[in-house]
Amino acid sequence: MSNANITNTTTLAVRAGINSDLHHGAVVAPIHLSSTYSLKGFNDKREFDYSRTGNPTRATFGQAIADLEQGSVGIVTNTGMSAVLLLCQLLSSDDLVVIPHDCYGGSFRLFTHLAKRGQFKLIVVDQNDQAALAQALAQKPKLVLLESPSNPLLRLVDIEEVSKACHQVGALVAVDNTFLSPLLQQPLRLGADIVIHSTTKYINGHSDMVGGVLVTKTQSLGEELAWWANCIGITGGAFDSFLALRGLKTLPVRIKQHQENTEQVAAFLKGHPAIDAVYYPGFSDHIGHEIAKKQQAGFGAMLSFEVKGGVEAVKKLFANISLFTLAQSLGGVESLISHPPTMTHGGMEESARVNAGISNALVRISVGIEDVEDIIADLTHGLAQSQKS
Ligand code: PLP
Repeated sequence: MSNANITNTTTLAVRAGINSDLHHGAVVAPIHLSSTYSLKGFNDKREFDYSRTGNPTRATFGQAIADLEQGSVGIVTNTGMSAVLLLCQLLSSDDLVVIPHDCYGGSFRLFTHLAKRGQFKLIVVDQNDQAALAQALAQKPKLVLLESPSNPLLRLVDIEEVSKACHQVGALVAVDNTFLSPLLQQPLRLGADIVIHSTTKYINGHSDMVGGVLVTKTQSLGEELAWWANCIGITGGAFDSFLALRGLKTLPVRIKQHQENTEQVAAFLKGHPAIDAVYYPGFSDHIGHEIAKKQQAGFGAMLSFEVKGGVEAVKKLFANISLFTLAQSLGGVESLISHPPTMTHGGMEESARVNAGISNALVRISVGIEDVEDIIADLTHGLAQSQKS
């Protein structure tokens, strides 16, 4: 049976790559490690000739993500950041780019440093501030980057509304969908032109590879970006593609468990005496709750909170938890905890972090799929210790 007529995201994820080996009928898409492929004869290439340009395992994974995002082309890159870098190949020095003031620190660092070197013009804007966003769009940007939900404060942008406004001024819209995966949000269906993923996160889900992907709505934009990916040499490796494809198959059940656990963890944290604020789009009083209900199929499994007592209390919390691992990254089966100002967003200058609302008391957690009672017991202990002098 072909996957061509399947639209259900759970079925698509589980069946990813199943019909790719026409020669042997391998149920699991094989890893093609060969760097090069023989020609049939003089100037007579096969489908693949050199693995930087094209690789069967990578192609299978790229197509699987493109199908899940309902896009045309999926370009697999060697990291999430190289997927963001690939986007920048669309820009010339006179082009204007608009990015959110509170995006992932690595993306912020890349865009601000390339702009400083004159590779394009840049406006950093709070995309929840309608007037500021309208003012930025009035300057006719070529590209607008959205990150919804944002890392680490889980702010949301109405992708449909903002895409319409961007298209009216001729801008391309790229959405970083890393925090949700195509199971919970499909930005192309909401009007975006390009979707970005760090596949290091939920898509692979086992914290054992790094990778990225760009999915385009149109074939022509996909071909242009695929040309650049080969040209600058940032395409993903076969083994990483194999791992990500393997992880993808369990994404639906992982996401379900991640979300169930997160809902309970968020309820536990809300109103906890050691906590000043919890950022979780599933709360009805979260600023983006209505947008989340409109454009997402779930509230995701990331949340952040501010610990009473600032950075000293954060240090005590980290010293007294044992189930959570203090580490960068997110979206793996194991629960991770991090301090964005010194970790994921350490590449941002302090003034930019303050402007984005990322305080030194902020803690981000990626809720894993362990038993939720164990997760809550660990936080209970750590938070109690965080308040001791
Ligand atoms: N986008 C978001 C939202 C991220 O959180 C990250 C990494 O944390 C990236 C992009 C970059 O991905 P990678 O670390 O795979 O290069």
